[in-house]
Amino acid sequence: MKIAVIGTGYVGLVAGACLAESGNDVVCVDSNDEKVRKLRRGKMPFYEPGLEELVRRNRVEGRLEFTSTLPKAVRAASVIFIAVGTPQGEDGSADVNQVLNVARDIARSMNGYKVIVDKSTVPVGTAGRVREVIRRETTHPFSVVSNPEFLKQGAAVEDFMKPDRVVIGAEDPRAEELMREVYSPFTRTGAPIMVMDCSSAELSKYAANAMLATRISFMNEIANVCELVGADIDQVRRAVGSDRRIGPSFLFPGIGYGGSCFPKDVQALIRFAGDKEYDIRILQAVEAVNACQKTRLLSKMRKHFGSLKGKTVAVWGLSFKPRTDDMREAPSIPLIEGLLASGAKVQAYDPEAIPVAKRIFGNRVAFSSGNYEVLKGADGLAIVTEWNEFRRPDFARMRKLMRGPIVFDGRNLYTPEQMKQNGFTYYSIGRA
Ligand code: NAD
Repeated sequence: MKIAVIGTGYVGLVAGACLAESGNDVVCVDSNDEKVRKLRRGKMPFYEPGLEELVRRNRVEGRLEFTSTLPKAVRAASVIFIAVGTPQGEDGSADVNQVLNVARDIARSMNGYKVIVDKSTVPVGTAGRVREVIRRETTHPFSVVSNPEFLKQGAAVEDFMKPDRVVIGAEDPRAEELMREVYSPFTRTGAPIMVMDCSSAELSKYAANAMLATRISFMNEIANVCELVGADIDQVRRAVGSDRRIGPSFLFPGIGYGGSCFPKDVQALIRFAGDKEYDIRILQAVEAVNACQKTRLLSKMRKHFGSLKGKTVAVWGLSFKPRTDDMREAPSIPLIEGLLASGAKVQAYDPEAIPVAKRIFGNRVAFSSGNYEVLKGADGLAIVTEWNEFRRPDFARMRKLMRGPIVFDGRNLYTPEQMKQNGFTYYSIGRA
């Protein structure tokens, strides 16, 4: 099948490469010329495990191309995915202008029946708006499909190749059939293709992200209670998660969620429910709890040191989660800004995100090339992102390098007993 994917961000590039891998001829379009030039040279715009190799292979085998020229890609394709950004607008609602602009450009280049698939996360009703925009511009027949993406950064290729489910909002059988064909290689292991109306498909994506964000904020609140009453969140989490109605996933406390999706999607859902005069109070609380949780580690440091002025703090992990270099809304940002504002010196290490962090902090932070090197002369270590390489460190080596053997662990990578045995003063989340 001939497919065009508009937007080569996390979603578009991964979708494009995976669709090519399953035998389609895919043209990925991005309006950012520089990005397209780099992709043609085999340079990925971000770090995502397995992606570079997948792109390389499919380009060599002639199934994947990159261009900044949309019309030719649209004319050649029967299915066109829109995977551009839907950033948070000033009032918190999702800004769908990129999606609508692309829809208009697609319509102007159409030369026959096309299925236009909205893969970006968009508020309920956007499929209808896309349909309207296209109808104004062309007399060619077309179908609009809503196909939200559920991949996780850090495991994006695997998630796309082996989805838990594929959600398709389609209102005509011709489009539904084509979409089933597109996804059949990815659902052979039995993952369901769920066909529904566009509004339900659009809302499913927001509801899923809001539920995950809710679980995180809920467990963070329980963790904070644990600290006050002398309970251990790890024990509580295991007891709660073994209830089959609840399940063990996404129950880990920490220092708040970040990334490009949860914060913006929770906000957008609050906004579009609000537009219908529905006050979605649970999500307002989820957000407020998350904002507080992001200050938790800094409060623990302030409490321990009294003043942070003149202290040197090492930071392990900058990206909003492991296996990505994405720092959008990362908890590391308010933590580091807070430390700097309190007069502390910050030295930081992350396996992938240092180039991104340099653009945010410039020379206000000293960046190190290794997780031990960054500890030299540190009065304390803050663990922000749970990269695997931080899980089993050489504690004796750490102690020798640090001025003060104090660890503020925002991800509960170690047990309090283990840290005591290794001679550390240890603070974590939800454990006495
Ligand atoms: P992104 O910002 O990484 O990428 C968007 C790309 O679209 C950019 O490369 C940009 O240059 C390009 N673009 C913008 N306007 C264009 C135009 N007119 N023509 C061609 N290209 C254009 O975004 P992303 O993280 O891939 O997210 C895309 C959408 O998918 C969003 O709605 C997001 O909420 C959703 N989503 C993201 C994730 C994720 O993990 N990042 C997961 C699921 C869903």
